Amino acid sequence: MSQFDVIVIGAGMVGASISARLIPTHRVALLEAEEQAGFHTTGRSAAIWIRNYGPPDVRVLTGLSREFYKNPPDDIGTDHLAVDRAILYLAPADQGRQLDELIAQNLGIEEISLARAKMLCPAIIDGYATRAGLEADGFDMDVAGLHQYFLRKLRQGGGQVMLRNRAGRIERKNRAWAVETSGGLTITAPIVVNAAGAWGDEVAKIAGLAPIGLVPCRRTAAIIDPAPYEVEHWPLVQSAAHDWYIRAEARTRLMVTPCDETPDVPHDVQPDELDIAIGIDRMQRALKIEVKRVEHSWAGLRTFSPDRSLAFGYDNAVEGFFWAVGQGGYGIQTAPAASALIAALVKHEDPGEGASIIRDIDPMRFR
Ligand SMILES: Cc1cc2nc3c(=O)[nH]c(=O)nc-3n(C[C@H](O)[C@H](O)[C@H](O)COP(=O)(O)OP(=O)(O)OC[C@H]3O[C@@H](n4cnc5c(N)ncnc54)[C@H](O)[C@@H]3O)c2cc1C
Repeated sequence: MSQFDVIVIGAGMVGASISARLIPTHRVALLEAEEQAGFHTTGRSAAIWIRNYGPPDVRVLTGLSREFYKNPPDDIGTDHLAVDRAILYLAPADQGRQLDELIAQNLGIEEISLARAKMLCPAIIDGYATRAGLEADGFDMDVAGLHQYFLRKLRQGGGQVMLRNRAGRIERKNRAWAVETSGGLTITAPIVVNAAGAWGDEVAKIAGLAPIGLVPCRRTAAIIDPAPYEVEHWPLVQSAAHDWYIRAEARTRLMVTPCDETPDVPHDVQPDELDIAIGIDRMQRALKIEVKRVEHSWAGLRTFSPDRSLAFGYDNAVEGFFWAVGQGGYGIQTAPAASALIAALVKHEDPGEGASIIRDIDPMRFR
């Protein structure tokens, strides 16, 4: 088959979830440049759902996604889609303002005593923090489980996942898009959805459209052994200023990040030794954890629009080109509601509860 109703470019969480939402009503082709769906940012996330994170539009979709995570469909295929993990904010003397701002949002962060913080995370060094806050309703997400669920839905509905097929030429002809791929295919559809993450502007340029100014930013993570601490049930611990955090990983390990955001170009990004060292240094100012060696590290690109809000909507320069980009550090936690909203917008249907943010996330605000 070479004729479809929609061609979705990029099979990360964003493209997979949108495709699954469209498949009941549309013939969908999902194109992916790599051998494996999820090879780039989706496979490199920290997998945590945090309500108080990101700009207002992101928070709306994070909140609307909660129900899906907590009460997933029967055929989700994983028994640990959402596993509770609170978020502990530590505020040294100079970060009191940031903690106040977090609490003032009134979205479930409450101030707790330092004694309680230390019960939750016994490694806290006395004297590091002067105050602490707790956000109780965070959870770990099974990213791979959710991604596979969306891909399965697409395939079960008759959609096609085309791996090793980079969209290399995208042309509008006879009221349809013709997409030629690196795998030698030419497929057509009246609608193209740009879910190419860090490559979002590049895909637009290939289609002859102006970029919107996406900035891929590198974020680094390292895995360490925190022995003798047993960390499985620790909260995610971070500074109120969000310049480092740790999160339990696979029961006995800790993930550490310096919350770096280094602008980069779209590519298979690798971790920088200096960023790893900065992350460990910041953590060790707060927590008494010896680091004998870094067991594993990785980096991924979190891609932001110029105002850091989402960019979902049709391009107004040509018919049938839909942007679904700018998910930054929130593309997993927003995926259930974001994909439902995007599917409604693609189909020109009632966007439901996501309607309140449509104007704020219109990608044409950057033109
Ligand atoms: C260290 C780190 C921690 C994070 N932690 C969290 C977190 O805790 N919670 C959260 O919600 N989010 C988190 N994120 C962000 C989240 O991972 C991203 O928002 C999300 O994965 C973006 O998904 P995507 O599908 O847009 O991008 P990607 O997964 O990168 O998918 C885009 C795909 O498009 C493909 N592509 C590009 N060009 C073409 C082309 N021309 N033809 C075909 N295919 C193409 C690429 O190969 C790629 O596979 C984190 C990210 C990082 C790096």
